[in-house]
Amino acid sequence: MTSNADKGLLIVLSGPSGVGKGTVCSMLRKLAPELVYSVSATTRYPRAGETEGINYFFKSKEQFRSMIERDELLEYAEYVGNYYGTPRSFVNETIQAGKDIILEIEVQGAMKVKERFPEGVFVFLMPPSLGELKNRIVNRGTETDDSIRNRLSVAADEIRLLEHYDYAVVNDRVEMACERIKSIITAEHCKRERI
Ligand code: 5GP
Repeated sequence: MTSNADKGLLIVLSGPSGVGKGTVCSMLRKLAPELVYSVSATTRYPRAGETEGINYFFKSKEQFRSMIERDELLEYAEYVGNYYGTPRSFVNETIQAGKDIILEIEVQGAMKVKERFPEGVFVFLMPPSLGELKNRIVNRGTETDDSIRNRLSVAADEIRLLEHYDYAVVNDRVEMACERIKSIITAEHCKRERI
């Protein structure tokens, strides 16, 4: 075995807001408990049912800026008026310990991770269609009309970045999407055993 095979995989699950990244990740936690999930920092307010340290680390804009200044974030992005970022040290420690970690992040951040970790595995979660994406954001019932409009216009731009990803997974059914992601992870491990 080589050192590449000893390290864990960094898997980036990205795609437009509302495509179901959160739902897919929650189901993956059950179906693939051996995966480690990166918890992001954000300046947005918690939604009902969200817990500090589990869904996000909720920060003020000032706290978030200090994290940037101290270089504590592997990547960060501004998304619809709020900041979101991935704490760097947890990702590094997990990979070095030989465990696979999954980052569920939007596409600007995913592209920054790609610059720093080109050996990462980049998975783009696709909506079955843009109409279906709108239904999902509206039905979630957590967004204002303005936020829905913004998220949909960002989504159309985001889908154009698909070509930079290693894999596209259509989220038609959550269980199927999870099975496809698990297969990708298995295949990537086999690929690294070979090197
Ligand atoms: P939400 O407000 O719906 O929880 O998240 C909005 C968007 O931010 C989603 O597309 C989500 O994947 C993304 N996001 C969550 N955490 C991070 C992060 O650490 N970095 C980046 N770049 N995006 C994130």
